[in-house]
Amino acid sequence: MTLLRGVGIGQGVAAGPVVRMAEPLPAPEKSRSTAGVDAERQRTRAAVAAVAAELQQRAHAAGGAAQEVLEAQAMIAEDPSLEEEIDTRLDEGCTAEWAVHDAFAGFRATLEAVGGYLGERAADLDDIAQRVRAHLEGVPAPGVPDPGHPFVLVARDLAPADTALLRLDQVLALVTTDGGPTSHTAILAREKGIVAIVGAAQAASLQDGQTVVVDAAAGAVDDEPSPERLAAVAERLAVRAAEDAAPPAPGALADGTPVPLLANLGKPSDAADALARGAEGVGLFRTEFLFLSAAQAPTIAQQRAAYTELLQSFEGRKVVVRMLDAGADKPLAFLNDAHEENPALGLRGLRALRASEDILREQLTALAEADAATAAELWVMAPMVTTVEETAYFTALAREFGLQTAGVMVEVPASALLADRVLAHADFASIGTNDLTQYTMAADRLLGSVAGFQDPWHPAVLRLVREVGEAGARTGRPVGICGEAAADPLLAVVLVGLGATSLSMAPAALADVRRSLAQHTVDDARRIALAALQADDAAGARAAAQTAATSPSQ
Ligand code: PEP
Ligand code: MG
Repeated sequence: MTLLRGVGIGQGVAAGPVVRMAEPLPAPEKSRSTAGVDAERQRTRAAVAAVAAELQQRAHAAGGAAQEVLEAQAMIAEDPSLEEEIDTRLDEGCTAEWAVHDAFAGFRATLEAVGGYLGERAADLDDIAQRVRAHLEGVPAPGVPDPGHPFVLVARDLAPADTALLRLDQVLALVTTDGGPTSHTAILAREKGIVAIVGAAQAASLQDGQTVVVDAAAGAVDDEPSPERLAAVAERLAVRAAEDAAPPAPGALADGTPVPLLANLGKPSDAADALARGAEGVGLFRTEFLFLSAAQAPTIAQQRAAYTELLQSFEGRKVVVRMLDAGADKPLAFLNDAHEENPALGLRGLRALRASEDILREQLTALAEADAATAAELWVMAPMVTTVEETAYFTALAREFGLQTAGVMVEVPASALLADRVLAHADFASIGTNDLTQYTMAADRLLGSVAGFQDPWHPAVLRLVREVGEAGARTGRPVGICGEAAADPLLAVVLVGLGATSLSMAPAALADVRRSLAQHTVDDARRIALAALQADDAAGARAAAQTAATSPSQ
């Protein structure tokens, strides 16, 4: 047995057969067949027929809208004019691989030129061509596999387009050889509650059909699990299923210290799911998500309707609404459409709102109106606050609109380092660990080439969190966490040990974080946090926390 190590996302465990995601096939060399025209024609016909049959079978199994798409693909595969194009190339003495590749490419260009509905089908041709070629070459078809049974998906990494096709009822776990804890795959896994291990380089050796155990809490894949291990996993899954079926309790440490667990939401209609998962309120409502594609600023009425719907869903509970956060990763043309060399360091967050104060005032008006019409406990906060002066500006403005509780997001090292001064002017702070990590580590959170630096476990980030936590304790102000870090069950314990008083996360992460907090007292959390703080780097901090979490307190 070998344990393949990577970064686990969440605390889940899964066991099942591996299905590898194949990479797209590179374009074949143009070469002459040595087998002869008839043999190549026979191979081609067989491959096309097999792909069409396979697509029909998948169409039948999928049902609904997917059925139509897959049936159309099956028909395209056997289209007589495509067959003619392939035959012409075969008659010239080309190999089947080249004939299929070139004929489909020509057909694709024709469809694209026609445009409209047919133009939109052009990409389907690539998929069919890849499938036919995979048959010819005897290799697995590229893209997200659909073996017709639950499986552990092993891939280099997943592109956003691949993740859209994932059937969550079939994917038991994800294992990637590339990617880090903030990669697209990791974020998706956290959001959807999929058991995942990312960055497990050795997983490249896993074979299709091989049974593995994926243990996210341990960050390891067992590539040869014993029958006893498989039985233990089955038992753990049964216990978790029973726990998940019970009504969720409020977040608390083992000694009863409450740690409210809140939801990060992007639209009011996500409220029901968050509540069902035991969200005690909303720790971050990303208002910009409502208006990402808008060319003009939203009207007060539009905003009031959305905020009222949200607040109604959380009657009697805390709802932290963030003002529009325009920025590098979330551009809002109506707030800043200037070209900037370094948008992450540009006119963003509160800076952009202040430059268009009328838009900020309209948003506060809409929030005050929604607040007056509902019975939730509304807190408002400004994004990307850097200075004490900005803090005082925002909280004074919010109070002008009658909003009772106004705070700031701490996402920039400057405001973390001056947290005591910032908190003298704010009712609360909420730490956005995604941006705080980006700015502390000087690593663009959108750039894959520096993703390795984007790790909130880094002790430099943890020290900044401690600054804010200690300032919160001294001033008696709440300090929440609303970045991805709060969704990491062990890091959540560390953050509480550093002084966080509430945690907000994607609703799917709530159960694992709740379970993790319940295993440690406040003294444990401080001890585990101290161990992480003393490390040299993110990996060291994670390992030190893991060791401290499993060793009894002195
Ligand atoms: C953050 O930066 O951590 C945060 C919560 O805000 P966003 O991810 O929306 O920038
Ligand atoms: Mg942010």
